[in-house]
Amino acid sequence: MDYIQIKLKPGKEESLRRFHPWVFSGAIQSMTGQPEEGDIVEVCDSQGEFIALGHYQIGTITVRVLTFTPENIDIEFYKTRLRAAYNVRQIAGLIDGSYNNTYRLVHGEGDNLPGLIVDIYDKTAVMQAHTPGMHYARHLVAQAVKEVMGDTLQAIFYKSETTLPYKARLDPVNEYLWGSDCGNIATERGLKFHVDWLKGQKTGFFIDQRENRALVEHYAQGRSVLNMFCYTGGFSFAALRGGAKLVHSVDSSSKAIDLTNKNVALNFPDDSRHQAFAEDAFKFLEHMESIYDLIILDPPAFAKHKNVLHNALQGYRKLNALAFEKIQTGGLLFTFSCSQVVNKNDFRLAIFSAAAQARRKVRILHQLVQPADHPVNIYHPEGEYLKGLVLYVE
Ligand code: SAH
Repeated sequence: MDYIQIKLKPGKEESLRRFHPWVFSGAIQSMTGQPEEGDIVEVCDSQGEFIALGHYQIGTITVRVLTFTPENIDIEFYKTRLRAAYNVRQIAGLIDGSYNNTYRLVHGEGDNLPGLIVDIYDKTAVMQAHTPGMHYARHLVAQAVKEVMGDTLQAIFYKSETTLPYKARLDPVNEYLWGSDCGNIATERGLKFHVDWLKGQKTGFFIDQRENRALVEHYAQGRSVLNMFCYTGGFSFAALRGGAKLVHSVDSSSKAIDLTNKNVALNFPDDSRHQAFAEDAFKFLEHMESIYDLIILDPPAFAKHKNVLHNALQGYRKLNALAFEKIQTGGLLFTFSCSQVVNKNDFRLAIFSAAAQARRKVRILHQLVQPADHPVNIYHPEGEYLKGLVLYVE
């Protein structure tokens, strides 16, 4: 295939030679034509030597690399990448029949498919494009997913209404690319939940907290648990199975509270240990009594861009300080940040300040990260986004 070539300025090929998968607009010297958004382009060094093929897009990140080898980007290409991705999930023990049928099959750059997310909920794959290139490739990708997954899958739902760049004017619709509604109850580590891929946040569930929920379950025995920012209640039913004395779930969205109640009932019908409250986190923490000895804080990304980093860190400090002030002696605080722009050290510093402000004695028991089905491409450290700390508070 003949693609439009993008020639880089001298020296600007270095990060790509080290397999970093992005070309920034400032690195470009010239182009042999004007590509359309979503086109596949060839990236060359200043001498015209081949470096990579990738999806073109208008913006700071101009090309997202699909391959560093000259090859056809066809169904076989996608199938090979998908098989490799599937293999990793299998090795990690995440594909486990009726015990665990919820996992992320494709995690963008982490699976060498920038701009693409595929989450599996039992027999349904929910596919999300973050780039025009992946949007245009959606039917090819869906066909590849279908062929690689075989009988295990019955439907592919495409959900990119909110994830594609607005300026690209692609007007994507959320729709089934294959099959139709085949039930929306999936299982994580033996615990059931409803997934609302039609209207829910992300693809319907926060799959990335699976192992951290298992850790909450491990510590929950006999504890009074507050699950703040509960969304679909994943941490709540893990704590209930772990033997918690009581579990209170809080989220500002009443829809999230309804979902949490529904999901708890699915696993623990009529369990009086659980109660859910639709309330703002800060208000709840300010007014609550000091009855909890296990608190989970899993807020939405406070910073989506670097220029709001300072405010985000203040937000984490304030939130965590409230929890440190109220948590019982001997309590455990599970605290998270899913903001990509907040690095591990910044986050820890914000928590450190919060602990000092509340004058509590605090020890770090665990440092948590994203699980194996959200892999980090070693050449793309930007892919590391989930950070968590488990703190023992005296
Ligand atoms: N812990 C969840 C995921 C949290 S997503 C899980 O395991 O699935 C973040 C949640 O925070 C969303 O459900 C959102 O409705 C809620 N939220 C956002 N701002 C909030 C606020 N100020 N107070 C309480 N909840 C809030």
